[in-house]
Amino acid sequence: MDPVTTARQAVDALGTDALQRAGAYTTGSEWIAGWELVVAFLIAWLLLRSRLLARLWMRWERRSTLVRTFGVCTVYIIASALLALPWSLYTEWWREAHYGRTSQPLGDHLFQAGLSLLLSAVILGLFLTGVYFFLHRARERWWLWSSGLAALGLVVVLLLSPLLIEPLFNQYQPLGDGPVRQALEQQAATAGIPADRLFVYDGSRQSNNFTANVSGLGPFARIAISDVALHGASLEEVRAVTGHEIGHYVLGHVWRTVVVLSLLALVVFYAVHRLFAPAARCLGTNEPLASPAGLPVLALLASVLMFTVQPFSNWLVRVGETEADQYSLQTVNLPDAMVAALLKTAAYRNPRPSALEEALFYSHPSVERRVRAALQWKADHPGSKIGRVEKAP
Ligand SMILES: [Zn+2]
Repeated sequence: MDPVTTARQAVDALGTDALQRAGAYTTGSEWIAGWELVVAFLIAWLLLRSRLLARLWMRWERRSTLVRTFGVCTVYIIASALLALPWSLYTEWWREAHYGRTSQPLGDHLFQAGLSLLLSAVILGLFLTGVYFFLHRARERWWLWSSGLAALGLVVVLLLSPLLIEPLFNQYQPLGDGPVRQALEQQAATAGIPADRLFVYDGSRQSNNFTANVSGLGPFARIAISDVALHGASLEEVRAVTGHEIGHYVLGHVWRTVVVLSLLALVVFYAVHRLFAPAARCLGTNEPLASPAGLPVLALLASVLMFTVQPFSNWLVRVGETEADQYSLQTVNLPDAMVAALLKTAAYRNPRPSALEEALFYSHPSVERRVRAALQWKADHPGSKIGRVEKAP
């Protein structure tokens, strides 16, 4: 067997229609990422022109600086989300439903989007208040302190997310008794993960995507499999996918993410420090960097910079994904099941992007590349018996 040819044939076997649809969906998502910047620009321009934040800042003059800052920041977060609502409804709900990626009723989607907006108004509002605090106190070094705060905030959110945030959006339950639970418990035990860290969640509420994830940090870390993946896959496929997630867990990828995102925050904040004045001039405002009334400029600059550094962060995430795939192959050794599971994700990620497209936009290596790697593993380990346990009854 030649892994390259076999991988190409496996992807071809999805059919021209499915491949075209996946290609259209993925290319559309990439254009959306670019258009987001235009939307962000329009929102910043509108908010600055309305002078809404500047007027609130003046009106709340008698309040303490921290309360005033928090107030203006939360108003900004809510106002910009409301202004972007038609766009986010199109990209996050209508288009997803059109491509069959979600079956969530509009009412439920709006309810959960409102909940998520409320949460980010509080969490992001507190974070931005901290940033403005440093802009006043640390002045020239505010970007250094703010990136430290970003790292701390990220750790706190990741730590508490499985306890306080995720249960607001989905139901997480221990895996039900049966062969799947038995197999996965054994897999977890081999990796030194307590069995009570394995969950199934109603991912089908928001998405029809075949998916699983690791979330949380330290004592609260857990592996969660979407009911879509659990019900739409064979036992061996679930084992291969869980092997991948256990790989992320055991290899400590979440800590790598914390370090990388904190360093990116440092770069972005420093660039904001240098570029704020010319950006504010371009947007026709003379609000200084230290004033929360200039937040639309700061936020727009940060979005443009985050977009610019994304190829780099994507590359690092792809390295982690490759490692997790290899971990699964090494520990459960189910390359064929891995291939079958990967092909199920091709509906929402063009399995055969151009090299440039993959480098710029892909947070996971392309499906064809991953299938090829699994088949290469199979070819390199012909006699291996790891993981070839008894089949489900
Ligand atoms: Zn992964």
